[in-house]
Amino acid sequence: MAIQPIRLMGDPVLRTPAATVETFDKELRKLVKDLTETMQDAPGAGLAAPQIGVSLRVFTYWVDDEIGHLVNPDLDLSSDIQDGEEGCLSLPGLAFDTRRAMSVVAKGMNMHGEPVVIEGSDLLARCVQHETDHLDGILFIDRLDPEARREAMRLIRESEWFGEPTPAFQVSPHTISSRWL
Ligand code: ZN
Repeated sequence: MAIQPIRLMGDPVLRTPAATVETFDKELRKLVKDLTETMQDAPGAGLAAPQIGVSLRVFTYWVDDEIGHLVNPDLDLSSDIQDGEEGCLSLPGLAFDTRRAMSVVAKGMNMHGEPVVIEGSDLLARCVQHETDHLDGILFIDRLDPEARREAMRLIRESEWFGEPTPAFQVSPHTISSRWL
């Protein structure tokens, strides 16, 4: 097993735009495996690579018993909207109503560099938007209206986990193996 510690808000890796994956090698396949195992262990509906300290454009999802991953996602969003509760493994214990597009078409690649398309609505669409935001350094609380965001920040500042020291992070796909175990 290669379950990784999940980075929490306040860790700079979560605010760093992740790099495009250019090398589809063994390290990338290990990253997808680590993300999948960490997501299942949490458990979570999705997990983005920056959340385990790797600043690369990769995420995994686990929605309606379907587990998958996407590399270098590019999203087409529907104009119709869903509103519902959303949370994040990097902000444990907090959930807020967050507006998202109702459905999404996500184009990208799998870990072997083959093109794939994920089409989804409801929770899968919410998950894909949330995880792609992580790859741009965006957290879901950034999507709240100002009043809800102020309330979220208040709760975050009061959280036990907030303000803990954060470890360094890697941007290269080729040196992720040992440091974070
Ligand atoms: Zn998240």
